[in-house]
Amino acid sequence: MKKFFITRRFILPPTPAADVLVPILCSFLAIILGTLLYLTLPSQTSDVDYEIITYEYYPPEANLVSILTHSKKSVAGRITQHSSTWTFNKSSKTPYTLAQIFRDPAILGELTPNPITAEILQDSFAIDRANQELITSLDGTEQRIKFTDLQGRLNFEFSEPMFGVNPFTYKDADHVDCTVSKCLALTFDDGPSEHTDRLLDILAYTHAKATFFVLGHRVNAFAGQIIRAAREGHDIGSHSWIHRNLPRFPYATILNDLTATTNAIQPFSGQFVRFFRPPYGSINRNVNTAAAALNQQVVLWTVDPWDWQNKDAAFVCNDVIDHVRPGSIILLHDIYSTSVDAAQCIINRLSEQYTFVNLSTLYK
Ligand SMILES: [Zn+2]
Repeated sequence: MKKFFITRRFILPPTPAADVLVPILCSFLAIILGTLLYLTLPSQTSDVDYEIITYEYYPPEANLVSILTHSKKSVAGRITQHSSTWTFNKSSKTPYTLAQIFRDPAILGELTPNPITAEILQDSFAIDRANQELITSLDGTEQRIKFTDLQGRLNFEFSEPMFGVNPFTYKDADHVDCTVSKCLALTFDDGPSEHTDRLLDILAYTHAKATFFVLGHRVNAFAGQIIRAAREGHDIGSHSWIHRNLPRFPYATILNDLTATTNAIQPFSGQFVRFFRPPYGSINRNVNTAAAALNQQVVLWTVDPWDWQNKDAAFVCNDVIDHVRPGSIILLHDIYSTSVDAAQCIINRLSEQYTFVNLSTLYK
């Protein structure tokens, strides 16, 4: 005789909506998955005494739901157990794939002797929370990877909510001494834009600080992004009003342009506008004198991956990684989605060696 139980194992503090919907979804999925699991397990049905299936979801604020099944069987007096978790994206209602959770396929290759094919990367995976292991079926054979070995190898958005491991040891970008530690300054020109919030999310999550050289004429439309960036510890610098090639204009025009830009930024940033980056890096004596009149430091860059032309995040990321050294100032533009992706890649790949700081910290 067989008994079949479904139990809710535990639920972390839910949001009101999740409180109602997710348990229903979980129960539904647990029944389906539990049945599948039951059918796939080697068994002699007539001898199975009982089977227990449990489920969990976590954490409610993340866009994922994980169903854990524990199957405990007693077959002819011998008890066998099997646990699995399927991890779903709540929005798309599809299982996450290995390609999505790992920072890059080469990293997954470090953890397994099997060749990593495009097909394997589309595999879903199971989580064995009890043993703190990720279970994959690479090349048909089950592989178990310890959560602790995943540290530094996963995309940030999954490392903590899914596996509880830090993406890496965060550096303190506010109190670092760049004469002693290795620092990099990410700078973003020509914005803010509709991509700036996503960039700010990435910077916040990775504890990186950056500098935004904003255009005066965009300030009103994106005041919220400037307020947020300043509040989150980034520097807001001036990139002139409307990106004209300033040396072509008389001194008075240049000074008016820089003054208007500074006056537009400051009420929102709440910071003294200390840095000025001339459009195209174009300077002459008049530009330098106008910046000096406003007590602004002219800052160019040392690493330029031409992200405005190379709208390919992997290319931009690799190009920056090939050229940085301690103290580098990296030029990117937060008006391109690909550049925001490149920034995430650069931070992911270099955060173990470098601290990402704003220019105030670099020039402290
Ligand atoms: Zn520019």
